[in-house]
Amino acid sequence: MKYPVNEVFETIQGEGTFTGVPAIFVRLQGCPVGCAWCDTKQTWDVLEANKVSQQQVIAVDGTIGRWANHDASSLLAAFTEKGFTAKHIVITGGEPCLYDLSELTSQLIEAGNSVQIETSGTFEIHCHEQVWVTVSPKVNMKGGYKVLTTALVRANEIKHPIATQNHIDELDELLTDIDVTNKTICLQPISQKPRATELAMKTCISRNWRLSIQTHKYLDID
Ligand code: SF4
Repeated sequence: MKYPVNEVFETIQGEGTFTGVPAIFVRLQGCPVGCAWCDTKQTWDVLEANKVSQQQVIAVDGTIGRWANHDASSLLAAFTEKGFTAKHIVITGGEPCLYDLSELTSQLIEAGNSVQIETSGTFEIHCHEQVWVTVSPKVNMKGGYKVLTTALVRANEIKHPIATQNHIDELDELLTDIDVTNKTICLQPISQKPRATELAMKTCISRNWRLSIQTHKYLDID
């Protein structure tokens, strides 16, 4: 199966449970969720006019929103060609769960990698059972999609960006009927704002949740 890929790059995972882990990011093209503050708006549309060669997607960053179809084999070949050494692969977007990721994640895992998916939780998640799924729930966004209970149930980690108490209340409501015993719940202060950070820290301490800091923004890396 082929997937529309916007860009591929190797860096350090900057947030959540895998903070600090070297990782290869595979950014898929396409997202109808419509978050106003989205910092990857170039991934929203999968326009035929923006389709380029596989090589172009591998060679250059994806800021202009072009894409090419790749499958697991062509991605693994590209990682080798680029000399990537990370063994943790993060499939992000866009909204990667627009696509059935079973085949892609299975083949990447069979090749000896660990795999993580970062999703908004608004589409059904289809992937290998060993995938670490990070749901960052996007509530009441312009696209009108609801955060799915099935996505929250599948999540290994629920990472919620917060600025105010309303965001925490929103998360509490989402988690009402979810068994979180074996899940990592992370609060992530939006835009490194001091008040958001203080609220996140206070709430994490009182509930034994985890603070997720976007370390890549402090380091000024991708
Ligand atoms: S779900 Fe992610 S990619 Fe889609 S609009 Fe929201 S932040 Fe952007």
